[in-house]
This record gives sequence, C-alpha cells and structure tokens, in this order.
Amino acid sequence: MFARFRDSLARFMMGRYGMDTLNRVLFALSMVLYFINLLAGSVTLVILEMVMLWCMFFRFLSRNTYKRSMENRKFMELFGRVKQWILLQKNKIKYRKTHVYRACPSCKMVLRLPRKAGEHEVKCPRCAARFRVKV
Ligand SMILES: [Zn+2]
Repeated sequence: MFARFRDSLARFMMGRYGMDTLNRVLFALSMVLYFINLLAGSVTLVILEMVMLWCMFFRFLSRNTYKRSMENRKFMELFGRVKQWILLQKNKIKYRKTHVYRACPSCKMVLRLPRKAGEHEVKCPRCAARFRVKV
C-alpha cells in the first residue's frame, strides 16, 4: 500500500522541479506571516501568504527546471549579498573597540583598519588606491 503510494508519487514528480532554497524561504516566510497574522488578523497578510504559497507550489511542480534553477541562482546571489551585509554589521559591532571600518573611495570596498588616533595613509588591498583616513 505505502510502496504503491510512493511509486505513484515518484512518477508524478518525475521531471518536476521540486524543492530548493528559494522554495524553502518562500515556505518559511509564509509560515512566519501565518503566525503574525494569528495576532494581526489582516486580509492583506492572508493574500500575501497565499501568493507566497502559490509561488512555492508552482515552482515545486514546474517542469521548466532550467528557468526555476535560474530563479534560484539569482535569489542566492541576492541572499548572499544580504548575508554579507549582516556579517559586516556584526563585525562592526564586534570589533568597534579595536578597529574602524572605512570604504575605499575608488572601489567602495569596506576596509577594517586598526583604531589608532590620528590621520593615516591607507592602501586598498583590492585596487591599490591610496587615500587618507582620520581616526
Ligand atoms: Zn579600493
């Protein structure tokens, strides 16, 4: 009985996209909205939640696996940038007593510099530009 169900499920899912990180995030966000909405009771949140779940199921059952994996890749790039930004904020707090953070004026890379009072010349490790920093 269970084996037959499993086999027919496997046949149904053949060639379909299935689960990926974007789908997991969509599902998690819709669950978060569901629990927020238990307190808020907003129709807009219900609609948003339904749209997220619909997107998740659409992507899960889609046969256009190339398009779905490209969507996931774009999402992962964006997610990676957000994760990097959060890590930078965490490190700014963690090292606030010993280091300062300054962006390179030419390539915009954020550099961690030792917190030494005075004006210093800094050479960017990425683009080799030299600039002065006041601490
Ligand atoms: Zn630079």
